[in-house]
Amino acid sequence: MADTYPFAEIEAKWQKYWDENKLFNVTEDSNNPKYYLLEQFPYPSGRLHMGHVRIYSIGDAMARYRMMQGYNVLHPMGWDSFGSPAENAAIQHKVPPAEWTQENIAYMKEQLIRLGTSYDWSREISACSPDYYKWGQWLFLRFYERGLAYRKEAAVNWCEACQTVLSNEQVEGGRCWRCDSKVTQKWLTQWFFKITAYAEELLNDLDTLPAWPESVVTMQRNWIGRSEGGEIDFPITNSDKAITVFTTRPDTIYGATYMVLAPEHPLVNELTPDEKRAEIKTFVDEVATEDKAIRTAEFGEKRGMFIGAYCINPMTKEQIPIWTADYVLMEYGTGAVMAVPTHDQRDFEFAKKYRLPLRVVIQPPTHLCPSKGGDGKLDATTMTEAYTEPGIMDNSGEFNGLDSEVGKEKIADFMEARKIGKRAVNYRIRDWCISRQNYWGTPIPIIYCDDCGIVPVPDNDLPVILPLHVEFTGSGTAALQACKEFYEVECPKCSQPAHRETDIMDTFPDSSWYFARYTDPKNDTQPFSRENVSYWMPVDYYVGGVEHAVLHLLYSRFFTKAMRDIGLLKIDEPFTKLLTQGMVIKDGAKMSKSKGNVVDPDDIIAQYGADTMRVFSLFAAPPERDLEWSDRGVEGSYRFLNRVWRIVNQCLPHIEGVTAQYDPGKISGSAKELRRITHQTIKRVTTDIDERMHFNTAISAIMELVNYLHQIELSENEIYRSVLRESIESLVVLISPFAPHLAEELWEQLGNSKAEGGRRKAEVRGVIPFTSAFQEGSVINATWPKWDENALKTDEILIVIQVNGKLRSQTYVPADATEDEVREAVLADEKIQKYIAGKHIRKVIIVPRKLANVVV
Ligand SMILES: [Zn+2]
Ligand SMILES: [Zn+2]
Repeated sequence: MADTYPFAEIEAKWQKYWDENKLFNVTEDSNNPKYYLLEQFPYPSGRLHMGHVRIYSIGDAMARYRMMQGYNVLHPMGWDSFGSPAENAAIQHKVPPAEWTQENIAYMKEQLIRLGTSYDWSREISACSPDYYKWGQWLFLRFYERGLAYRKEAAVNWCEACQTVLSNEQVEGGRCWRCDSKVTQKWLTQWFFKITAYAEELLNDLDTLPAWPESVVTMQRNWIGRSEGGEIDFPITNSDKAITVFTTRPDTIYGATYMVLAPEHPLVNELTPDEKRAEIKTFVDEVATEDKAIRTAEFGEKRGMFIGAYCINPMTKEQIPIWTADYVLMEYGTGAVMAVPTHDQRDFEFAKKYRLPLRVVIQPPTHLCPSKGGDGKLDATTMTEAYTEPGIMDNSGEFNGLDSEVGKEKIADFMEARKIGKRAVNYRIRDWCISRQNYWGTPIPIIYCDDCGIVPVPDNDLPVILPLHVEFTGSGTAALQACKEFYEVECPKCSQPAHRETDIMDTFPDSSWYFARYTDPKNDTQPFSRENVSYWMPVDYYVGGVEHAVLHLLYSRFFTKAMRDIGLLKIDEPFTKLLTQGMVIKDGAKMSKSKGNVVDPDDIIAQYGADTMRVFSLFAAPPERDLEWSDRGVEGSYRFLNRVWRIVNQCLPHIEGVTAQYDPGKISGSAKELRRITHQTIKRVTTDIDERMHFNTAISAIMELVNYLHQIELSENEIYRSVLRESIESLVVLISPFAPHLAEELWEQLGNSKAEGGRRKAEVRGVIPFTSAFQEGSVINATWPKWDENALKTDEILIVIQVNGKLRSQTYVPADATEDEVREAVLADEKIQKYIAGKHIRKVIIVPRKLANVVV
């Protein structure tokens, strides 16, 4: 036997076997319970990185485990293949984006196969394929018919480096999610998806997702950002218009001493008198380039300008000045704020800086009063920060003396009766801007006609094919406009010359419904059939990165609800269980080219094999935590697999000709202990995978079993050999989700893999007793072993036997044996007979539950 096991040969052999036997292809088989296991499909960037290896190893281990439990497992893979990197590569290397993308897909697919993944490749989908994006366009048209897709002019996030707009979800701390450039604001007419129509449902249904990480649920909850309050109209002086504000504190309205409009608010331009227009515009343009997080932070420098117009506080009837300031954002509420400096910290800082009037309208309950005033009341002239807690209303006309929480309701009633304002719920989430000014994406199926206006492309004309050969002279938009076959088109309504929309869709709509397409990937008459989607959906277990908490994971939930309302499916939520895996880090930082700490999966596979890489990436950390790369850890995993290989090979001659069937009532001694360790391992591995998804502790349980097996003394006893066979078979099955190639090879050596392959059908495997683990064919057809709770009891303990202080044997005694009984058992032990025969036994020293020393 060689020192190391022949992983290269074994891995190639079994990958071929899986492929030839189409082992992982599934159909909609209602005899078996279904299980839909999905990992986020990758962007085909060129090669797999360690982050990919990690997520796909996690998903694959889970998929294989469920298959062995008897589920009909859908485990598909595809490509999120639209996106600007392909375009950048085209510009840099003069390769058409389609070609670059296809080459990358081919290479990465080969890498995934070399990783030993269990995908049903017959269901492979690719976002840039017309077969797929046709249905994305079809969905867009259904959204458009329902008002869920619409076009409007708005201040949108603009990335100069990417030359395109970004959704709010794609701006992180004022920077582009993709290239990290500073994001600015720009007024553009763009396409939006009306995600706000589902704000309430998206929020409420978070409560129906107990198997999602709390952190993701919280991020979505905050992003949707529901708040209750009122919408109040402030009439504009010398105008018949009003400024509508949203406030969560209508009880403070008597303290509203000025009005602030967001710089992006359309009324800023409208209300500014000509003589102030130039300076206001300069200010507005400046603010547009600033980081929104910094703009709105408390205790930060705030800037603003009086725009030269006034409005009326509808409760005090006072005329108050209208300002514009950087700390008010267009996307919160109505983009206008009634400023109450005494009871809002940002307003307070701003009013102090610009010497705007302050009026206290909420007094703290006396015992809480922070001010030093004799009567315990707050004084606007001595306040050093805003008082933001509830309290007693003051300076508020007929509402004086009321508890502010009560006052909130009374003021709302008062304003609703007089039509000054109304109760309202505000959501922080804004509609989703999906227009992009790139080229490599799904064309938006819209035509513009001078006479007919916006004309949707008729369903029969779908897909609107993205032209593959375009000239890149500048932006993606320019490239599409220059492509006459694409751009110039006949109006479907009036047949006059018209032109196509040149904005393409953001790539996120592509990934917002792909999980449903996998259920029926080749359907060419609809996105997917109701039968297939209702058999497979929802996804039972979804693995993806936490960076998508308010992007992909939110968009997919929105699409699912919209598709439900269109009548395409019947579920409310797409993903029942979610795992967000941690990052792969090396030398304390995330692996990245710029940091020079990248480990290439291909190198590790060549040196140690795919099984080692899988075991390392699953063993080094629980899936939701960051994984610290360690060369020693990789070697350790490799040594472990070699130990597995050796122990199975060493045991093989001893377990030939026996089955794992025996009568558990008839075993004792070392066989019983071996059985106990085996069943304890089965229990630990099963519960670690099933309940906690902790593959790392599952693998360490297997390691302990292997250590134990390396220590045992083999016995030729028939029943012992059966128990050993059970242990070895269990070991091979238990390790197969993590090291599938090695497991297949050992399973074959055990004599189990002689059938022609194909996944076993029919019965639910979970109900088969553990003793029937033996199955012909691939190890994937084996039944996941079950443990016998009775086997776990340690009713016997091992006593080490010494003669004159030298280790000579060991024996099992009942756990409750008395000293006399232990002495009797020790002296009856076969192996020590030759040491004590004919000698005088002076005494037997017993260390309870451990050791007996016979002194002769
Ligand atoms: Zn960018
Ligand atoms: Zn027309």
